[in-house]
Amino acid sequence: MTAAAPVVGVLALQGDYQKHQQMLNSIGVASYLVRTSDDFAQVDRLIIPGGESTVIADLLRRFDLHEAFSSFIRSRPVWGTCAGMVLLAARVNDETVNPYGVIDIDVDRNGYGRQYFSDIYPAHMELDGAAEDLPLVFIRAPRVTRVGAGVKVLLVHKGDPVILAQNNVLVSAFHPELTSSTLMHRHFAFAFARS
Ligand code: GLN
Repeated sequence: MTAAAPVVGVLALQGDYQKHQQMLNSIGVASYLVRTSDDFAQVDRLIIPGGESTVIADLLRRFDLHEAFSSFIRSRPVWGTCAGMVLLAARVNDETVNPYGVIDIDVDRNGYGRQYFSDIYPAHMELDGAAEDLPLVFIRAPRVTRVGAGVKVLLVHKGDPVILAQNNVLVSAFHPELTSSTLMHRHFAFAFARS
């Protein structure tokens, strides 16, 4: 586990974790599906996939992963996509979700309506010195309703922040793993939160 070749974990309890693993494979990054508390020790970074935040939160507790997960996301680079973003937020407008509060944002779960805004939008982004087209796939996406002072907004789409970062935490409201763009995966594996 060297700085140059991270092992990127993907939380594999529910959701589209296999798609993230395929993306990591396609850019030559070693990946590991995280399902037990011991698995956290095998990885340098962690992706929390899209799916259902309520279900993922419930499984973290049922499988006794809450402590290991909580400690990992407070100290290591993590990237939450969609449901993962909901889980990492400070506050969610839905009492069925108890978020972990590691990035100072508030989100409106399903904030664009349950089916409306489940669509693909072309976007363009500059990251790590590369400018690339980036199709944004939104599926019952969370909408960011508050951005804390220490949070960086990396991409705004239609007036809403859709990629944000604070310290070791990266979140995106959409699903790059469902596109052919590897920009975000390369950023997370090789550039994000390296000092
Ligand atoms: N709306 C879902 C949730 O709140 C997230 C949807 C997704 O990950 N595509 O968990």
